[in-house]
Amino acid sequence: MRDDNCIFCKIANGEIPSKTIYEDEKFRVILDLGPAAKGHSLILPKSHYKNLFELPDETASEVLVLAKKLGAQLKDKLNCDGLNVLQNNGEVAGQTVFHFHMHLIPRYTDDNQKISWIPGEPSQEELEAVKQQIIG
Ligand code: AMP
Ligand code: ZN
Repeated sequence: MRDDNCIFCKIANGEIPSKTIYEDEKFRVILDLGPAAKGHSLILPKSHYKNLFELPDETASEVLVLAKKLGAQLKDKLNCDGLNVLQNNGEVAGQTVFHFHMHLIPRYTDDNQKISWIPGEPSQEELEAVKQQIIG
């Protein structure tokens, strides 16, 4: 399963070189070319799935196990103070490459980066309405 026009398919399968920090038969983990911080890495499945919704359950489970393992390695080797694990789905959510990938972003006390949102201030009634909308 691959998309001939997809750059991450080519990277994941080794047709385009990358700074690979991990590889097995299903995944390649590379350094991001535009890192938010030193060691910013991307977990790429070798098969083409556009986003989380297309990912098979088994692959989805493996991604999080890999995030845990590589995250620990980044912490150990780069001595970071924290780690953001994030994953964007859809253009409106910030996805720019439409081949599923999970970001591992080591964080350092003085890195001056911000991964943030503006918190809303919903009432209990508004939260209840959303809850009902989701579960109803
Ligand atoms: P997203 O915005 O979640 O789709 O993330 C795409 C990420 O891929 C960005 O952080 C880019 O810096 C990174 N990126 C794009 N092209 C490449 C590439 N050829 N090699 C490594 N990272 C890339
Ligand atoms: Zn792809």
